[in-house]
Amino acid sequence: MKNDTWGRVKQQLLESVGRNNFANWIEPLELTKVDNGVAVFSVPTSFMANWVSRNFADTILTHLKAANAPASRVEFKVAAHQPQPASSEPKPAAAAVVAPVEPAELPGAPLDARFTFDNFVVGKPNELAHAAARRVAEGGPVTFNPLFLYGGVGLGKTHLMHAIAHETRTRNPELRVLYLSAEQFMYRFVQALRDRQMIDFKQIFRSVDVLMVDDVQFIAGKDSTQEEFFHTFNALVDQGKQIIISADRAPGEIKNLEDRIKSRLQCGLVVDLHPTDYELRLGILQTKAEAYRAQYPGLQFADGVLEFLAHRISTNVRVLEGALMRLFAFASLVGREITLDLTQECLADILKQSDRKVTVEEIQRKVSEHYAIRLSDMIGPKRVRSIARPRQVAMYLAKQLTSRSLPEIGRRFGGRDHTTVMHGVRRIEELKGTDSQIADDVEMLRRALEA
Ligand code: ADP
Ligand code: MG
Repeated sequence: MKNDTWGRVKQQLLESVGRNNFANWIEPLELTKVDNGVAVFSVPTSFMANWVSRNFADTILTHLKAANAPASRVEFKVAAHQPQPASSEPKPAAAAVVAPVEPAELPGAPLDARFTFDNFVVGKPNELAHAAARRVAEGGPVTFNPLFLYGGVGLGKTHLMHAIAHETRTRNPELRVLYLSAEQFMYRFVQALRDRQMIDFKQIFRSVDVLMVDDVQFIAGKDSTQEEFFHTFNALVDQGKQIIISADRAPGEIKNLEDRIKSRLQCGLVVDLHPTDYELRLGILQTKAEAYRAQYPGLQFADGVLEFLAHRISTNVRVLEGALMRLFAFASLVGREITLDLTQECLADILKQSDRKVTVEEIQRKVSEHYAIRLSDMIGPKRVRSIARPRQVAMYLAKQLTSRSLPEIGRRFGGRDHTTVMHGVRRIEELKGTDSQIADDVEMLRRALEA
C-alpha cells in the first residue's frame, strides 16, 4: 500500500469519526509498513496505542479494505524515541519507552472538610441515598455503577459526594479519587482541546479509581462535552472503576441529554434525595445548634424556636442553615436568649420567602406521580385525555399555589401559551363542581403540596 492510499483513507476516516476524534487519534498515526496483511502504525504513546486499537481499529480496517489495501489486520506500535545525539549511554530499551507515564496531579475541585458522613443527618427522605453513599465509600468490589444521586437544590447531594471522597481517602489512601462538577469537567475539556492536550486529558480521566461528577445536568445540550463524558464514563466502567454522578433530576428527565448517556446513567443505582420533612429538618437544626452551642456555651434557645424553624422554613437545607447562622450571629451580638419573637424579627425576610415554597416543578412532579404519568409527558406535546387532564390539574394548582403568572406557568409547561393555561385552569374549576373524583384529587394534591 502506498502512503497516498493511507492519505485517502484518512480523509474518509475524518468523515466517519468526526473532527475531534480525528485530530486526537487518527491524525497522529503514521503508517510504517504493511507486512503479510498487517498494517502497522506507529503512535506516540502506549496509552494512545491502546486506545486507538480498542476504539478505532475496526473502523480503520474497514476503510483500508474498502480502499483495496492488502490489510487484514491493524497493529499500533509505540514509536521509539529519537536517539539522543552524542550520548555514550546505551539506548534505552523499547520497554522503557513504553513504561506508563506517572499520572499527573488530578484536576479535581477542593473538598469541603465539613461535608463528612459524621456531619450528615439521616432521616427518611435521605436514608437510601445515605446508605448507598456509605456502601460505595466502603470500597470493595463495585456493585452498582454508576451511583446516581438526584434531588432538588440544597438536599445534600454535594455533601454526600464529598463524604464519599473523604471516607474513601481515609480507608483506601492509594485510590485516586477525583471529584469535580460537570461544569469543571467541561472547562477542562475545552481547555485541553484548545491547548491540544487531549491525550493528557484522556489519560488523566481514565487513570482515576473513583470519579465523581456533580450536577451533571449542566452538560445537557453541550454536545462535544457530552460525547467526551460518555467516552470517559465507558472507559472507566470497562475498567471496573467506580463512578458517582449527581443531578437535579432523574437521568430520564434531563432534557437535551443524549439517550445513550441517559441509559448508561440508569444502568447503576439511581437514588433520589426527597425534599426534607419536618423531622429531618428538626434533626439537622438540633445537630447544628448543638455544635454551635459547644463553641458558644452562653447561647440559649427558648423552647419551640427550632421547632418553629423546622415548620416554617422550606425543604432546602442550605436555606435552613443560613437562617440558623443568622440567628446565632444576631444572638451573639445582642447577647440575649433566642426567643420566638427575636427569631421572627431576625428572619422575617427568609420566613416570608419560604411561605411561597411550592414550585411549579414540585407540582408537576406530584401530579405526575399521582396520575402515574411521566414528568416528560406532563410538559410534552401529547394531547390524549389521560395526559392532558393531569396537565390541566397541575396548571390549576400552579395558579392556585404559586405566585407565577399565566405566561410564566405556560413556559414551565413546555412553552405553552398563556391562553392554554387559562383554559386548563377554567376547565378544572368547572370539573371540580361536576366531577367528584377530580375535586378529591385536587384537594388531596393541594394538601400534599402544602404539607
Ligand atoms: P445540593 O448539592 O444537593 O444542592 P448540598 O450538599 O450543597 O446540597 O447541601 C446544602 C447544605 O446543606 C450544605 O451545607 C450541607 O452540609 C447541608 N446539608 C444538606 N443535607 C444535610 C443533612 N442531611 N445533614 C446535614 N447537613 C446537610
Ligand atoms: Mg450541589
